Amino acid sequence: MIEAHGYAAKTAKSRLEPFSFERRDPGPKDVVIKILYTGICHSDIHQVRDEWGGARFPMVPGHEIAGKVVAKGAGVTRFSVGDLAGVGCMVDSCRVCPSCQEGEEQFCDSGPVWTYNSIERDGKTPTYGGYSNLIVVSEDFVLRLPDNLPLSHVAPLLCAGITTYSPLRRFRVREGMEVGVVGLGGLGHMAIKFARAMGARVTVFSTSPSKESDARKLGAHDFILTKKDGWGTSVANRFDLMVDAVSADHDLAPYLGALRKDGSVVLLGVPEKPLAIHSFLLISRRRNLTASLIGGIRETQEMLDYCGQKDIVSDIEMIPIQKVNEAYERTLRGDVKYRFVIDMATLDT
Ligand code: NAP
Ligand code: ZN
Ligand code: ZN
Repeated sequence: MIEAHGYAAKTAKSRLEPFSFERRDPGPKDVVIKILYTGICHSDIHQVRDEWGGARFPMVPGHEIAGKVVAKGAGVTRFSVGDLAGVGCMVDSCRVCPSCQEGEEQFCDSGPVWTYNSIERDGKTPTYGGYSNLIVVSEDFVLRLPDNLPLSHVAPLLCAGITTYSPLRRFRVREGMEVGVVGLGGLGHMAIKFARAMGARVTVFSTSPSKESDARKLGAHDFILTKKDGWGTSVANRFDLMVDAVSADHDLAPYLGALRKDGSVVLLGVPEKPLAIHSFLLISRRRNLTASLIGGIRETQEMLDYCGQKDIVSDIEMIPIQKVNEAYERTLRGDVKYRFVIDMATLDT
């Protein structure tokens, strides 16, 4: 076994604190990655606080991992020691079910092995995430990272990037389309960048007046403050696609009402309460309500290569790991532009 250390929460009510644990020795197909940067996703907060149920403690969160290969098994063919390497939300899956065969391992029939808060395919070993110094992962679940982009800004692409890129591609976003982005946070700011790069006209829906100038700098054409009453009427029946990246409970009716015939709202956020939707909103213009879950490994690689070509990265605020609890509080207050990234070199200071 390899000694590893990072930050963990011991219970749903505790703060993250230093934690030592073991990683497996690399098998023939495994790479060992020294973690340099890890993004803080709102899903880390949901899980650490057990908002989705079934949390496993101690929990080392982190699924936006960027680093360098420092060792590898004899059968590894795609990576060499010294290569940049990324790990997202998954570290394994059954590999044989229809979804795995189609490259959509996130929908694996047996359930993918999540990077943390999950159990390896041996049925007993807990997984620990990227708020740590190193990780051991099968090369099939390791991503190549573009070497022309700053690595700390690349880390959030491993979740916020793929989660927004995937639905935009699925709905073939292109010039002439009207795309709405609901919630300007970590996911939302990537959705603006991608939708704009794909040629759409982009409108941001936000509860925060202070984010208007940022939204426009990030590429949005329009900004709609959803705190004002009656905002829905100004945009009714206009949008082809709306990606909803809001982390908290909110009313979907005005967003559905903003769709044109056959338009779609894609849910990305995972608020706590179930939704209440009047079916008339869908029926009246044959609108679709759907959702999306990260993206498969193949599409994640495609997204990273696309970012390399188009110079797309996340806007970040770098923090030392000692500030991780404060960063959680600030994320909950919406006080981050637009992703916290932990500088993992600070783990040993
Ligand atoms: P984030 O950075 O905290 O952004 C969430 C945004 O939601 C905020 O910036 C805010 O935008 C808006 N918001 C927050 N509270 C709100 C409220 N009470 N009413 C309306 N809007 C509110 O979070 P994130 O990391 O982007 O994640 C967003 C959600 O996606 C989380 O639920 C996360 O778990 C989920 N997620 C899903 C997937 C997937 O595969 N589907 C992957 C990753 C994350 P404004 O200030 O602009 O209103
Ligand atoms: Zn995430
Ligand atoms: Zn499978």
